[in-house]
Amino acid sequence: MNKRLYSPARIREIQEKWGFRFQKSLGQNFLIDGNIVRAIADSAEVGEGDVILEIGAGIGTLTEELALRGAKVFCVEIDEHLKPILDETLGAYEDVEIFYKDVLKTDLKKELTSRFGDHKIKVVANLPYYVTTPILVHLFDSDLPLESVHVMVQKEMASRMAAKAGTKAYGSISVFLQMRAEVSVALAVPRTCFMPQPNVDSAVLALTNFKTDHGENLKRAEAVVRAAFSKRRKTVANALSTYGFAIEKDQILQALAETGIEPNRRAEAITVEEYRILAKNFPKVEK
Ligand code: SAM
Repeated sequence: MNKRLYSPARIREIQEKWGFRFQKSLGQNFLIDGNIVRAIADSAEVGEGDVILEIGAGIGTLTEELALRGAKVFCVEIDEHLKPILDETLGAYEDVEIFYKDVLKTDLKKELTSRFGDHKIKVVANLPYYVTTPILVHLFDSDLPLESVHVMVQKEMASRMAAKAGTKAYGSISVFLQMRAEVSVALAVPRTCFMPQPNVDSAVLALTNFKTDHGENLKRAEAVVRAAFSKRRKTVANALSTYGFAIEKDQILQALAETGIEPNRRAEAITVEEYRILAKNFPKVEK
């Protein structure tokens, strides 16, 4: 093993050797702090035998840490310019595979199942920020046997995703995620831990204890949540009844009453659990 990859000197050396330039448009801000790299792997409790899906290898900094802990890593990286670099930096790790493709265009279920069967998957990644939300949506839509997700995102985004009802940061994204898993901020990461330095701070978001008992309710719940938050200043009864669902206001009031939600409450005051029950009580509608 050479010098570890999170040293800024090593990154510069690699850049010079391969003529590599950071592509801002691909969210290429690489980790340069070994303590943070280890803390991410610690927070995901990465160990021998784990199967990890990583998104965005960069020069392999986080990937190497995961491999050193005995995990099998399948990493999807969009930038083929990184191939000769990654062949060199990670070539010695037998249990690492870099798959060069846009993760959003990758059939994750197919790729992971063909390699690891139905083994539980931990997602560990320093995400490219321009596609954080689409990547999370793609992960969920892929129907993977997720054990946990630990991903670096913008600090403000992490706060919104983990926010509780009644706070300013609480919104539809908080509810979408918290309906599926327990969501918390595992680690704050200052901008100085990256090269090049981004102009925002970051945080590692942790999603654990995935709930699998949604049945058909999840899509309906998402529609109800979207509608409720579509007019944050209005009461929930008003927001839901003017959203355009093909149902009568009375039916909405009845669903709210059955759930025990006063019609004059606002979207941001309603808890995730209440949204879950409201979705069950809500008339079946398409929108
Ligand atoms: N893991 C490395 C680290 O921590 O130093 C790099 C993280 S960097 C924030 C994000 C990485 O994601 C970059 O290597 C970038 O090329 C890659 N990337 C950007 N968009 C992608 C996409 N749509 N699919 C797969 N990888 C992508």
